[in-house]
Amino acid sequence: MKATFPHLLHLDIALGVLYPNLGVEIIIPPPITQKTIEIGVELAPQNACFPLKVTLANFVEGIELGADTIFMAGGVGPCRFGYYGPIQKIILEDLGYDVNFVLLDHPRYGVRPFIKALQTMAGGRVLSSRVIKVASLAWKVLRLSEDLERERRALRAQVKDPQKLDEIIEGALERLRTVDNEKTFQSIKEETMKGLENLERKETEDLIKVGIVGEIYIAQETKVNFNVEKTLGDLGAYVHNSVSTVEYVLHTLPFTRSREKLEAWKLAKPYLKRFVGGEGIDTVGSAIRYAQEGFDGVVHLYPFTCMPEVVAKSILTSVSKDYDLPILHLAIDEHSGEAGLVTRVEAFVDVLERRKKLKKRKLEVS
Ligand code: SF4
Repeated sequence: MKATFPHLLHLDIALGVLYPNLGVEIIIPPPITQKTIEIGVELAPQNACFPLKVTLANFVEGIELGADTIFMAGGVGPCRFGYYGPIQKIILEDLGYDVNFVLLDHPRYGVRPFIKALQTMAGGRVLSSRVIKVASLAWKVLRLSEDLERERRALRAQVKDPQKLDEIIEGALERLRTVDNEKTFQSIKEETMKGLENLERKETEDLIKVGIVGEIYIAQETKVNFNVEKTLGDLGAYVHNSVSTVEYVLHTLPFTRSREKLEAWKLAKPYLKRFVGGEGIDTVGSAIRYAQEGFDGVVHLYPFTCMPEVVAKSILTSVSKDYDLPILHLAIDEHSGEAGLVTRVEAFVDVLERRKKLKKRKLEVS
């Protein structure tokens, strides 16, 4: 078995630690490029969700490199995530690819298929101390990769040399790819955190704070969202992203829950009482949380035509008014262009800075 899977930020690093240590050969699809997007757009139905198109192209590129098995997460309504796996499987079959498509659905939709898919994904192994040890190491790698990105977003506008910041983070991510034991993992973690602490800081006063909310794929995958968080950081903003694969997994597994998600859902309740699919509720709740924490603005990232995020978008109009919180909505698909997006982000940051100065002046006068 040679398995491939979709990209989602640094998921490939964690899976690259997990599978070789389980004895499963994997083929990491090439990084997402314009060519990847073109493949997905050509093969998927025109009105399919943008993430379906890009992940389908990841599979094709992985298969072209020799993969014979696909690992994919399943999902259910009320939005279209539940259709991803079955549609992608049919498209690949129609193209003549002879692959084993392994779909991991939530156990609530069938414990047996869940266990069977999990076993296939673990190379046919049952739960053993070896599997638990390796899975726990891969989980730590995933968490650390997200923590490093959190540091990068927070620090970019505060350090004198953002290039050095990128070098430290990229270096650590590269080293994490080859981790096979706890000791190496800890030393990478400690050295990287020390390197980040030692970075020279600028004199920064009153940085504007921007939170990111939205759909899990577009809000995280910097290769498709034109790295909005880097643009924001380069423009002088402290950035925080509320969307996390770790929290998603915690909330999806049968015996764990994401505290962050539960809090966001609670905050969203006065505006949205029902699950609308995807990250719709999280988007509303996280925007409220940013407002309560004193953030100056929110960037809402989502795939064009994403139903849960369109629902969230209409509710965010009220949230924006009630909390006096500027929100920039960025819908992304294959037709989006970097130049237009950067211009909108620049204008947004400009507005936030002016508002902040005005507020400060008013406070000084009163
Ligand atoms: S959350 Fe949005 S983009 Fe994702 S499957 Fe649902 S409708 Fe499509």
